[in-house]
Order: sequence, then C-alpha cells, then structure tokens
Amino acid sequence: MRLFTVGPVMMYPETLEESGRQLPYFRTAEFSAMMLDSEAVLKRLLGAEDASKVAFLTASGTGAMEAAVSNTLTSDDKVLIIIGGGFGRRFAEICDVHNIPYDSVDLEFGETLTGDRLEAFRGRGYSALLVNIDETSTGQLYDIHLLSDFCRSEGMMLIVDAISSFLADDLDMERDGIDEIILSSQKALSLEPGISMVVVSPRAYDRIRMIPSPSYYLDLDHYFIDQERGQTPFTPAVGTLINLNHMLHMVESKGLDRKISETAALASYFREGARRIGLIIPDYPLSNAVTPVLFDGNATEVFESLRERGITVTPSGGDLKNRLLRVGHIGNLSESDYDILLKELEEIIG
Ligand SMILES: *Cc1c(COP(=O)(O)O)cnc(C)c1O
Repeated sequence: MRLFTVGPVMMYPETLEESGRQLPYFRTAEFSAMMLDSEAVLKRLLGAEDASKVAFLTASGTGAMEAAVSNTLTSDDKVLIIIGGGFGRRFAEICDVHNIPYDSVDLEFGETLTGDRLEAFRGRGYSALLVNIDETSTGQLYDIHLLSDFCRSEGMMLIVDAISSFLADDLDMERDGIDEIILSSQKALSLEPGISMVVVSPRAYDRIRMIPSPSYYLDLDHYFIDQERGQTPFTPAVGTLINLNHMLHMVESKGLDRKISETAALASYFREGARRIGLIIPDYPLSNAVTPVLFDGNATEVFESLRERGITVTPSGGDLKNRLLRVGHIGNLSESDYDILLKELEEIIG
C-alpha cells in the first residue's frame, strides 16, 4: 500500500512500533513532563513567543478550527475569510454556526490570491483574518508575507490554519505576526488522526481569556490552564500524544529547515516527472505538501485505476471531483515511491 494522500499519510516505523504498545495512565508526573516538553519543542518549531499558549485537543483538525474561531471571536466582531476552496468554506460555515459576521475574499478555482484582491477590504474595521495558508483542496499556498503585512497595517488578528503546511512550508509565528495557528496530527506529523493543536500568542490569549467559550468540550482556556501543568481537561488520545512527542523530537533533531527542504525536493521531483509525462499542474503558487493535477473529466477513473495498482492519491470533492487529483508529499515517502507512481500514471493515461 502506498499513500500519496494528505492525511492519514505513510507513517514512520517508529510510530507504528510505538502504536502497538500498552498505553500508560496519563494523570502522572511522567506524562505531564512529556506534555510540557512537547509544548516547548512545538513552540520552537513554530517560532512562537515563550509566553504563547498551547492547547492539545483530542479532535480532528476541524475541532481545532472551531475552537480557535469560537473562543476568539464573537458576534461583535467582523471577520475576513480567504475562501479559495473547501477549507476556506469550512471557516465560513463555522462562523455561520457561531453567528460571527464575516466577509470573504472569494477566489475562483485557479485564481491566485494577490495584494489587489485584498485592497478592496482595507479600512473596513475587521478584527481578524481567517486563512488556510495551504488551501489543501487546491494546493494553493497563499503568500504569508502579503497576509501578514495586510493584517499588521489593518490592526487585525491573523488566525492561520496551517494543518497541511506545518513542516512542509516556511512559517514562523513571531516573524509572520501570526496570532493563532492550528495544527493536526495526521498531516506532515504523520501520526494517527486524533490530536489537533491550537497555539496562540500572548495577545490572542488575553482576548480568549475575556471571551466566554460557547462550548464545554472546546473551551480553550480550560486546556491552556491545565497545560500549565502538562495536563488536559479530559482523557486525551494518549498514544498519539506519545507519538507526537517522539515526532517533534525527530523533526527538531533533523532540523526544521532540512525537513521542509526534503519535502520541497520531493514535490519538485514529482512535479518535473509529472510534466515530463504530460500531466498538467495549475500555475498558482503551490504548497510543498501537495501537488494538484488537472484531468479532463477522468480524474475519478485515474484514481480508481491507481487504487487497483495499490496506490492511493487524494481525490477531490464537489465541482472538482472529475477534474482534479492531488498528490501528497508529506509522510514517509521517497523518490522511489514517486518513480512507481509516475510509471503507473504514465501507463494509465498513455
Ligand atoms: C486536513 C485539513 C483540515 C482538517 O480536517 P479534519 O478532517 O477535520 O482533520 C483542516 N484544514 C486544512 C487546511 C486541512 O488540510
């Protein structure tokens, strides 16, 4: 089985081995020490200020998106959302549920987010920008510097869903003025689904503390306070948190820059090979995490033919179902995996 998906992805042998072990009990000093250590490594990898807060939620990524939005913003705010695909729409749907007013920068499929598109939204009193920095449904990587400059000059908070971008693209909370960042275990961290994290700057924490949470389970302040002693309010996905600690150390000892450049190298390797066999890749800026490939109405057939050959790429939903497949570059993959994928793809389309 070979997965070129964006989560779950191919896992590392260390993770698979650990996942077969008996879980420990977690209300212990050892578990707390591990959680405080995970917090410290995570903050270093994110370029987060020391006084930032980290919540480890047992939820899929969407749970962390909802926690970040609903604990930070209220019906008195006005929010701007970049909607260039399914994950941008998800932010809008979360705001709808929580009665948080918003406007959106709506991008057509294939359209690049530019500074010109943002200009129209200046001076309108928005309190925050919500963006999925890699809109995983299309693979477009938005320009963090563009968004960061816009938010700084407008005095807006910048809330970034970096679920598919973390460890694949260059991001730094302090440098990029990111107030809140949202992560999840099943993307480049290559773990089981189940743990998602919200990391917030001291400024965002001050705001969260003042706003009553609309949710019992997703009350972020509760998680932040318990994490001060390395604990979570409720039983977490204990095994995934153990694997997370190992993975954070693996990434840190390799070096974040090296991890990102290895992913970037795999992405270019696939992209060159794909163009060589005549596949078409959209021309908007791409995340290193995933490559979108355009098809002429037969994406579903190609997806199924690959599945018959033991290969799973990432299908698309909605309007893009028959037009777009996505090939992931995160997880335990190497150039030889792409050689196999490209050979099979060439046979299928040839
Ligand atoms: C994977 C992903 C999510 C999380 O989706 P879940 O299915 O809830 O884990 C959120 N945002 C982006 C950009 C993603 O790629």
